[in-house]
Amino acid sequence: MRLRLPEERPTEPPTGYKIAHPVLSQDGTRGGFTGVSLGGALPYGVLADASCVYGLRHKAPHRRCDCGFHCVHDRAAAEALLCTAEHRAAVLLEVTVLGRYLRFERGFRYARQRVRTATVGPCACGTAAVALADADWGRPGWRALAPSCPGCVRGRTSLSLAGFARLAGEGLRVVAGSGDALPSAGLAAPEGLGVPELVAEAALLQARLDWFQTQLGRLGEHGPGGGRQG
Ligand SMILES: [Zn+2]
Ligand SMILES: [Zn+2]
Repeated sequence: MRLRLPEERPTEPPTGYKIAHPVLSQDGTRGGFTGVSLGGALPYGVLADASCVYGLRHKAPHRRCDCGFHCVHDRAAAEALLCTAEHRAAVLLEVTVLGRYLRFERGFRYARQRVRTATVGPCACGTAAVALADADWGRPGWRALAPSCPGCVRGRTSLSLAGFARLAGEGLRVVAGSGDALPSAGLAAPEGLGVPELVAEAALLQARLDWFQTQLGRLGEHGPGGGRQG
């Protein structure tokens, strides 16, 4: 006789937390995420089904495998993972656990997931991020993105936080900051752009315009037409 845990039938799907790197498809039309450890090779969309990372022909999660989406119950436990050097540029995801799941002491392993909110930390320079910019690495077909402030975006491929949310779709919210910034983000209109998002979009556009004007100015000084010195 096999000993089985009781099956849970929650009235509402459970909520969990995890960290991941935002990714942008090669053609720039889709946004998603890629995990930081197991499963990092398989980028996923906002609403996604897990498949076995080992390519085994069973439904994920399988009891005798460690496949499936993973998350923890406790937000602080997920945030703690962002402290390590290799995860500094990752973002915190709040997810809804859908489909079959296996419960652990610290979290869930499960079949289907909806990412509800992505919380983006500061730029590597320490300034609050307004954009997700090319992080100089990726997966086949996907470039990884990292939080960036207006000053550090320069000419890199980038999206405003709201722009990334639009591409990723499915009602994803992308908010900047940690801790203190969250309550104000919660006041933003659920649909469309609130004032903080518009201010961030404007700051990003201005920074990119400044950068392009600087580049144009340099071309004017040193370019083919500007090299005449008599
Ligand atoms: Zn498996
Ligand atoms: Zn910066």
